[in-house]
Formats: sequence, structure tokens, C-alpha cells
Amino acid sequence: MLIALLPGDGIGPEVIAETVRVLDRVTDQLRFETAPVGGAAYKAEGHPLPPATLDLAKRAKAILFGAVGDPDCDRLERHLRPEQAILGLRKELGLFANLRPATLFKELADASALRPEVAGAIDMVIIRELNGDVYFGEKGMRKTASGRREGYDIMSYDEDEVARIARVGFETARARRGKLCSVDKANVLETSQLWRDVVIEVSAEFPDIELSHMYVDNAAMQLVRNPGQFDVIVTGNLFGDILSDQASMCAGSIGMLPSASLDANQKGLYEPIHGSAPDIAGQGKANPLATILSAAMMLRYSLGLAAEADRIEAAVATALENGARTLDLGGKLTTTQMGDAVLAAL
Ligand code: NAD
Repeated sequence: MLIALLPGDGIGPEVIAETVRVLDRVTDQLRFETAPVGGAAYKAEGHPLPPATLDLAKRAKAILFGAVGDPDCDRLERHLRPEQAILGLRKELGLFANLRPATLFKELADASALRPEVAGAIDMVIIRELNGDVYFGEKGMRKTASGRREGYDIMSYDEDEVARIARVGFETARARRGKLCSVDKANVLETSQLWRDVVIEVSAEFPDIELSHMYVDNAAMQLVRNPGQFDVIVTGNLFGDILSDQASMCAGSIGMLPSASLDANQKGLYEPIHGSAPDIAGQGKANPLATILSAAMMLRYSLGLAAEADRIEAAVATALENGARTLDLGGKLTTTQMGDAVLAAL
């Protein structure tokens, strides 16, 4: 099975290298091809997402992505900046469902911003719609009748977009504890009223799933008050952008958190939620576990290798139990030594 490796910038290549070592240990079914993306691609080929990179991403069965972002590129025109590569891949590949599991490894309870007994109960997946909402509606700047400047961004969802992401939510809940919470702002927004109506309609296909609804302001509060109540959350692009960052930080270090962005056929792009971390790049200080856990998601969701995914996740837990810690977790291990610790646990 062909895997597109897009290491990108900063710590991206460092964490991808450790992840490939781990994947090679658990399966011999993968074939890797590497291509530049982000600032590295701009510097080599004049564009953050060169045609050959996009072509590889399209041909591959799944994409393993490091991170993009390079301070040298911050003053380029927006369409040439490294971060555009990830938006281009989402659009070109139709990646509409972003899955972010937030689970606290019990060994890291102290790393959460929440009290250990509250944080210890976190075990959820947030599903964020990626292709619609206010980010993709008509937008612009205009003048009001009285000549004042006014910015606007139109929020909209059509019923097919809502039904499609709702089904991902129900199916994810079915593979977990069977509870889905749909988050909206239906008390104020028409877009959210349609969202809620359609989620309820789709729920008829999933009578075994316990569906609830929550307003986004309450969800933000409940995520820090009692995060253990959530199994799967499904929400729109804007609310999901904010809530998924909030939930992931409740669950500990940014160096620990994986994500998947899926299309309608379970093809996906897998990446850590962190960026290129230019402040620590090239120093062997990056924690590779978020990327290693993203690779486990890739095995489970896109490649049908669930047993191998379980082995990787168990090995990460064992490494942590044995005291393996990179700097972000308060330890001294280098990126490679953390990779070694996971391999040893395997
Ligand atoms: P960042 O996630 O790169 O770094 C934030 C902080 O967390 C830094 O102090 C960094 O050292 C630390 N950190 C991040 N990952 C770590 C890891 N694996 N191990 C240990 N420490 C880690 O966010 P930022 O500094 O806001 O952004 C840097 C660049 O990354 C920017 O150019 C930004 O646009 C880009 N970015 C890219 C993505 C992506 O590729 N999907 C996501 C977020 C940010």
C-alpha cells in the first residue's frame, strides 16, 4: 500500500523519521514515497504544494503529513505561504471530516491544564466539518450607508453537507461508546437550526446511538467542567476549530495529539495537531508521539490494520509508563530516544 510521506518544515522531518521506523516495525505492507510540501517545497520548487506532491497525494492510499510553516516565508503573498499547502490538500482531496481524538494517557495526568481527577476522564473524539461554514462563504469588505468600513463572512451549510458529516459522527460513535453530541447554536442561527434538524433526521439510521444536542457556549464550558461526559462530538467548521483546540489542550501536551482528515471513502491525511515548531527545529527536542499516534490512526481508519494500530498505541502507553519523556513532557529524551523507547516497547 502506497503511503505519501510529506514531512514539510521545521520539526516535521524529525517526527516523520521516527514514525516511519515505528511503522516499519509493525508491518511490511507499506511502501513509502516522499515529496516536499510547505516552505521546503516553496524553496525547492517555487510553490508550497507542487503538482508532483499533489499527484503523489492523490495516488497514495493515505498521506502522512509532518507540519508546515517557515518564518522565512511569512512575508510571501498569501497563496505562496507554507500553510496554504494544507488547505490545498483538503480541497483537492475532498477531505471533509477532521477527527481529533483527545485521550489523556494516565501517566501524563499532571500535564493537563485541568485537575488530574477531571482530566483523567477525558476520552473523546471531536469531529469537525472541514469544507463548509463561514470559512467558505462569501466574504469581503464594504462600506455602510454612512461610509463606515464593514467586514462580512456568510455562514451557510446545505443539508447534504450536514448529513455527510453527521453520518461520520454516528459511525464513529458506533465504534466507541455509542454516544454522539451534536454542537450548534440553534437558539440564534438559522444555519444551526438546519444543522440540528438534519442531524435528527440522520439519527433515524442509527437507532442504537444515543444522540444529544448542546449549544456551543455550553459545550465550551462543559469541556472544562466535566469532559468525561463526552464520547463523540460532531460540529461545524467554526465551532470545531475552537472546541477541538480547547479539548486537546485539556488532554495534555501539544506533542501528544494526533488527527485525521478523511474523505468520503476513508482515504485520509494524518498529521499531528502541532505546527513546525521553528523554535526547537533541528535540535532533537521534538516529541514524535503525536505523529506516531497519527500513524496508528492511519492504520486503523484508512488501511484496515486495526491490530497494528492497537500495538502502536499500547507501545506508546508502555513507553510513557516506563518513564520516557521528551522535554515538553518534563523529561530529557531526544526525538530519536523517544522513537527508541516506542520501538523497545514494541
Ligand atoms: P507550533 O505547534 O509549531 O508550536 C507551539 C509551541 O509548541 C512551540 O513552543 C513548540 O516548540 C511547541 N511544540 C510544538 N510541537 C511540539 C512537539 N512535537 N514537541 C515538543 N514541543 C512542541 O505552533 P506555532 O509556533 O504557533 O507555529 C509555528 C509554525 O507552524 C507556524 O508557521 C504555523 O503557521 C505553523 N502551523 C502549522 C500547522 C500544520 O502544519 N498543520 C499547524 C499549526 C501551526
